[in-house]
Amino acid sequence: YSAPPTNFIQNIINEDRKRGKHGGRVHTRFPPEPNGYLHIGHAKSICLNFGIALANGGLCNLRYDDTNPSKEEIEYVNSIEEDVRWLGFDWEDRKFYASDYFDQLYDYAVQLIKEGKAYVCDLSPEEIREYRGTLTEPGKESPYRNRSVEENLDLFERMRAGEFPDGSRVLRAKIDMGSPNLNLRDPVLYRIMRVPHHRTGDKWCIYPMYDYAHPISDAIEGITHSICTLEFEDHRPLYDWVLDALHFEVDDRPQQIEFARLNLTYTVMSKRKLRYLVEKGYVNGWDDPRMPTISGLRRRGYTPEAIRDFCERIGVAKSNSVVDIEYLEHCVRDDLNARAPRVMAVLRPLKVVITNYHDNLVEELEAENNPENPAMGSRKVPFSKVIYIERDDFAENPPKGFFRLSPGREVRLKHAYIIKCDQVIKDEKTGEIVEVHCTYDPETRSGGSAAGRKVKGTLHWVSAEHAVKAEVRVYHYLFTVENPDEFDAVEEVLNPSSLEVLTGCLIEPTVRGAKPGDRYQFLRQGYFCVDPDSRGEKLVFNRIVPLKDSWAK
Ligand code: ATP
Ligand code: MG
Ligand code: MG
Repeated sequence: YSAPPTNFIQNIINEDRKRGKHGGRVHTRFPPEPNGYLHIGHAKSICLNFGIALANGGLCNLRYDDTNPSKEEIEYVNSIEEDVRWLGFDWEDRKFYASDYFDQLYDYAVQLIKEGKAYVCDLSPEEIREYRGTLTEPGKESPYRNRSVEENLDLFERMRAGEFPDGSRVLRAKIDMGSPNLNLRDPVLYRIMRVPHHRTGDKWCIYPMYDYAHPISDAIEGITHSICTLEFEDHRPLYDWVLDALHFEVDDRPQQIEFARLNLTYTVMSKRKLRYLVEKGYVNGWDDPRMPTISGLRRRGYTPEAIRDFCERIGVAKSNSVVDIEYLEHCVRDDLNARAPRVMAVLRPLKVVITNYHDNLVEELEAENNPENPAMGSRKVPFSKVIYIERDDFAENPPKGFFRLSPGREVRLKHAYIIKCDQVIKDEKTGEIVEVHCTYDPETRSGGSAAGRKVKGTLHWVSAEHAVKAEVRVYHYLFTVENPDEFDAVEEVLNPSSLEVLTGCLIEPTVRGAKPGDRYQFLRQGYFCVDPDSRGEKLVFNRIVPLKDSWAK
C-alpha cells in the first residue's frame, strides 16, 4: 500500500484533494453490522477502506452499524475485531458504534420534525408498503403526513417513552411520494421495537433505520468518503437528503461512493445464508474451513497476505461480476509457494519393503526445505527398509502414460534412491494389494555418483518406523453449481461430499510438534495447515488447496 492504487475511488479522492475538499483529509470507515461473521466479501471492503486511508495518509474507523438489535450479538462484535486485525489492519482508537449516537440521532430527528421535514405516521407496515407505489406507479400520501409540528413532537416523544405498541407508528421523512426513486417516498426513519440492544439494553424502544443513521454517523465521525456496495446507489439521494435537511455543508460532509460487491463462484456470501448453513448443521460452525468467512479461511490455512493480494488483484469496479474462486486459490498458492516448507506426507499409504536394504540401517537424507527459497535451508529425513508410498502411485496394470511404480518398473524416491518393483503381495482372501517388494540401487542416492540416472517418475514416501500419524481433512466446494445464489434452497445445490476425512495418513517426522496454523507444502499434493483440533501427538491437517495440476507430477 505504499503507492495509491489506481481505481475510480482513488481518482475521486485525487480530484477532491486538488479542490481542497474536506481540507484535503481522507477519512474512511468499515461499517459492519454485528449480525454474523465477516466473509471474504467484507475482506474486500476492509482492504479497500483501510487501504485507501493508508495510501492517502488518512484514517479509517471501525464502526459497528448496530441499529437493528434483533439480529446482533456480542459474539459477532468480537469475531469482527479478531478478523480485521488478522487481516493486518488497525483502527487504533477509532472504534465506534452507531448506537453511541442514539441520543444525537434522536435530537436530529426532533430537529427534522421542527423544520417540517419529518412526521409520525400511523399507517401499518402493510399500508405503508401499499401507499409507497411501484416503479411504474406513483405513491400515495399518508393521511398523517400533514400533522402539525407540535403533534409530531408530542407523538415522537411518546414513541420514545414507550407509550405505543411495536409497529403501531413510525417516524417518516417528508420528501416526495411522487419521486421516481422509491427510497425518497417518505422513507421510515424510526420504528418502535421492544428488543433489548447488546449495548444500550432496554434504554430505547425506538431504533433508527440504516438509511437515516448511516449518513449522520458518517458525518459525526468526519468521514470524507463513505464507500459502500452498489445496491446502495439508489439510496444515495436519501443519504444526501438527510445531510441536506440537517444543514451539513456540502464541501465538508461525507460523500457516498459505491463499488461492486465481491461474488465468488461456488460460494454464497450473504450472512443470512451463511448463518443458515451453520444453524442447520451443514457445516461445523462459522469457522468451518469450507466457509467463505474470514475465520473459516484462516482455519483452513489461508494467509492474510494471500487474501489482501487477492483483494488488490481483483480491483474495484462499478459493475457487478462474479470472480472465479480458482483465482482466490491461485493467490494463496502463490503466497505459500514462496513461504511454506516442503514435507513428504503419504495420505493413502501402501507399504513398500526394500528387500536389499540393510535390516537395521537408518539413513538421514538431506532434503531441501523449499526449492523456491534456498534461504529456508534443508532438513534430514530418515530412510529405512520399510517405507510407505501413496497407494495411487502404484498400479499393478499401469494405464498408458502412467510413470509411477508398477511391476518391473523403476521410480526415484524423492531425496533418496531409485527403486524397482519386483513383487506384489496380495491378501489371500480379498486379493487386495497389501505390500510391494522392491530393490534399490545404492549408486543412485541423491547427490551420489549415479544420481543423474533418469527415470520417469519421482515419488514422495515416508519411513514406516519414523512417520507421524495424522488425520487429513480434504475440502471440496460446498456447492455443486457455480451459481448457488440462483437457487431458492441451498439444499438443492449443497455438495454432500464437501468434506473428506482421511485417517491413517503418514507424514515425515519433521512435522512432529507442529502447532495449529503451521503451514506446509506436502510434496506433489498441495498446501496443508495444522487444524486447532490437533491434540498433542495427534495432528489434524486441513488441505488449503491442492497443487495446481494434480496429474502432471
Ligand atoms: P450481507 O448481505 O452478507 O449481510 P452486508 O452488506 O449486510 O452483507 P455489512 O455487515 O453491513 O454486511 O457489511 C459491512 C461492509 O462490508 C459494508 O460496507 C458492505 O457494503 C461491505 N460488504 C458486504 N458484503 C460485501 C461483498 N460481498 N463485497 C464487498 N463488500 C461487501
Ligand atoms: Mg449492511
Ligand atoms: Mg446484511
